[in-house]
Amino acid sequence: MENRDRFVIAIDGPAASGKSTVAAEVADQLDALLFDTGAIYRALTLVALGRGVSPDDEAQLAELIDIVDISVSSPSVADRRTYDVYIDGEDVTWTIRDPAVDKAVSRISAHEKVRQGLLELQRKIGSSGQVIMPGRDVGTVVMPDADLKIWLDASIDERARRRQAELAQRDIVITLDEVRKEMRERDNYDSGRALAPMEPAEDAVVIDTDGRSIEDIVAQIVQLATLIPAIADEEGSTAS
Ligand code: C5P
Repeated sequence: MENRDRFVIAIDGPAASGKSTVAAEVADQLDALLFDTGAIYRALTLVALGRGVSPDDEAQLAELIDIVDISVSSPSVADRRTYDVYIDGEDVTWTIRDPAVDKAVSRISAHEKVRQGLLELQRKIGSSGQVIMPGRDVGTVVMPDADLKIWLDASIDERARRRQAELAQRDIVITLDEVRKEMRERDNYDSGRALAPMEPAEDAVVIDTDGRSIEDIVAQIVQLATLIPAIADEEGSTAS
């Protein structure tokens, strides 16, 4: 019965499938911690780019994990961010979303030593309480016993439009064709890698987000979450 109030919800899916936005809103509504696993792969990529470490140099990338302090915490600035990301004390929340990181992150994430090196941190945070974890392999590898597994998907055109709009908000102008190309490459890398390939867990609830509003998808997930014992118990005790 100990740990009864802990739960973890995995929200996996390809780039710009809406994971981050949906996960942030679900976390808000369930008063849970948001831990975006992609952020740590992105942070490592930013470090590698900054230090001139090749995305193909597995040994050096693994070394970086040991010497660099990457942390993800609750948002401290009201600039639409849903969490803070720090590298050795420097706020990199927005720079980890730059196109240069998009381009290199999947190559870096495909290495066994990189995935292994980042696994423990993810599991530690994932089992720390009430956590919503967006990612690619959270339901299959990182937290295979997650209380609820969601797979979010959308067509490549819809995802490219979302990503382009997201970048435009930060005054980064990039054509739809370029975004689409980068996204296809990243999808291929992420789903084609030998280790922890991006794929829905067998017991994941698959949600196609094309043409659906964020609110609608969030409501569906929150509804599914009411079946999680820790949440059902809480609702039962507030209702009585
Ligand atoms: O979700 P986001 O687009 O921020 O993820 C960036 C990249 O990090 C993905 O394209 C993938 O290569 C990697 N990633 C991963 N496993 C996760 C989360 C992200 O390999 N659980």
